[in-house]
Amino acid sequence: MHSSTIKKMKTSLNEVVNYHLKINDVDYFMNDLIDKKIKISWSGKVICSCGREMKKFYRSGFCYTCYWESPMASQSIFKPELCTAHLDIEERDIEWERKFQIAPHYVYLANSSGIKVGITRSTQGVTRWMDQGASQAVILAEVPNRRFSGDIEVCIKEHVSDKTNWRKMLSGEPHSIDLLEIKKTLSEHVPENLKQYICDDNSITNIKYPVLEYPTKIKSLKLEKIQTIEGVLKGIKGQYLIFEDGQVFNVRSHEGFVADFSVSSSNTQSSLF
Ligand SMILES: [Zn+2]
Repeated sequence: MHSSTIKKMKTSLNEVVNYHLKINDVDYFMNDLIDKKIKISWSGKVICSCGREMKKFYRSGFCYTCYWESPMASQSIFKPELCTAHLDIEERDIEWERKFQIAPHYVYLANSSGIKVGITRSTQGVTRWMDQGASQAVILAEVPNRRFSGDIEVCIKEHVSDKTNWRKMLSGEPHSIDLLEIKKTLSEHVPENLKQYICDDNSITNIKYPVLEYPTKIKSLKLEKIQTIEGVLKGIKGQYLIFEDGQVFNVRSHEGFVADFSVSSSNTQSSLF
C-alpha cells in the first residue's frame, strides 16, 4: 500500500472509539481534530492494491485485471455462501482462499441503524462493528470457516437485514434493542446441521462514537466529484467523517485515492474527546 493513498481509519474501542488516519507517513489521531478544520485534496489518481495507478477504479476499488482475476474480488467475497475452499475447490487462487476462508468466523447481530446480521473473521469482530458504526453487537455463532457463516447468514437474512442504512446510522444513535431476545428467536432459524455452532457467549459489546453533532440533512461527499473537501469536523462514526452542515465523507469507500490531508491551524478550539 502506498503511503500517499487513503486507507480506512484504524479503530480501537475505548469510552468512545479512537480513530487514527495514516497518510503520507503521518498518523493523525482523528478524535483530536474534532471541531477543527480539516482538508482532503485528491490528486486525481487512484492506486489499486496490485500497484497499478490510474484515473479511476474499474469497479469496487479494483482495476480491471484485479476485478476479474484477483481472489480478493471473487464472487465468494460478496457472497460467502459460495465459498468452497473448505471442500478444496478453487475459485481463483486456492492458496489464498484457504488462508482467507478456512479460519474461525462469527455470524453476529448488530444494531447500527436497526437490527442487522453480518459475518466477519473472528479476529475482526469488534473492528468490523466499529467500521459499520454499530452501537451494540452480539455474536450469534462461531464457525470454523467462512462458508458456514455464509450458510447461516443466508437463513437469518430472511428475517433481518444484512445491510446498514448508513443515512440512518449517521443521523443519530439507534434505539436500544434487546439483542439477546432477538438472538434467541433467530437461533431457531440456524440450519440444523450448524446449530452446534451457536455461541453460548451472550455478552453484548456497546460502542460509542466521538460525535459532537449529528447531521439533520446528510450529504455524502465524493472526491471524484469535488476533488477537495474542507470543513470543520463534527464527529466520526463507522468509517465516516461528519462535517458541519451535514456533509459526510466515507473514508473507506475512498481507499486507494492518492490524496493530501491537512489540518487548518487557524482553529485552535480544543476537542471534547
Ligand atoms: Zn489491480
